[in-house]
Amino acid sequence: MLNNAAMIIAGTVVGSAGSLLTQLMAKAMNRSLGNELFSGFGDSSGGSTGDVTGSMKAIEATDVGVMMAFARKVIIVPGYGMAVAQAQHKVWELTQLLVDRGVDVKFAIHPVAGRMPGHMNVLLAEAGVPYDRIYDLEEINADFDSADIALVIGANDVVNPVARTDPSSPIFGMPILNADKAQNCVVIKRGQGAGFSGIENALFFLDNTRMLYGDGQAATADLIQAVKEL
Ligand code: NAP
Repeated sequence: MLNNAAMIIAGTVVGSAGSLLTQLMAKAMNRSLGNELFSGFGDSSGGSTGDVTGSMKAIEATDVGVMMAFARKVIIVPGYGMAVAQAQHKVWELTQLLVDRGVDVKFAIHPVAGRMPGHMNVLLAEAGVPYDRIYDLEEINADFDSADIALVIGANDVVNPVARTDPSSPIFGMPILNADKAQNCVVIKRGQGAGFSGIENALFFLDNTRMLYGDGQAATADLIQAVKEL
């Protein structure tokens, strides 16, 4: 292989691209490159698992449909679960229904949401979501304070408030999307599954958070139905 220039060039390109992506991830998570490579992030056997007291409160799709249809401002936070569920097309259909009713709907994208940089942007672009509805973390984080609803679809670590408060947490110091600051937060996920970091999410236990349990695509389809029936 060492005598084959094409293999050496291809290997160099792949290696540089990998290093660049790792560097981007480290920056997005407020970590040094060494910490990113060797800390074992994602291995829940070490560090605090973020035990949280209280309970998660479930909600039905019909109730979320009413809340959203009569909201002024909704911010959607997609995460890895939206990719697993391939829910992006339904999410865009829901968005269009809400926009037609006069609701201001924006998408908030965390730089490490999903499993590769730009994962959510690619999925939303594929579904036809226009770029001017999609905002990066720094652009939108201040907006959560004035949002009626933060709709979290299959995101977990990127909205976990312990990143701000618990120094023993493996995600401490990582910038997060301020979904907890919205007046109401609705989280779509299948059950009690942890995110990539393997820790509990304090957001799910807050008084202003409700859990809409189900697969991302099916739950979003239920929301579409609920809004259409109003
Ligand atoms: P996450 O923390 O991995 O959480 C994803 C959540 O989606 C899970 O809690 C899971 O809960 C839910 N889920 C899975 N399948 C679902 C489905 N079909 N329908 C609905 N929900 C579903 O995701 P994230 O908030 O996007 O965070 C990304 C994580 O990956 C970060 O920790 C980041 O550091 C890490 N990471 C990112 C990259 C990158 O470049 N973007 C690369 C490597 C690692 P249930 O099981 O209960 O449904």
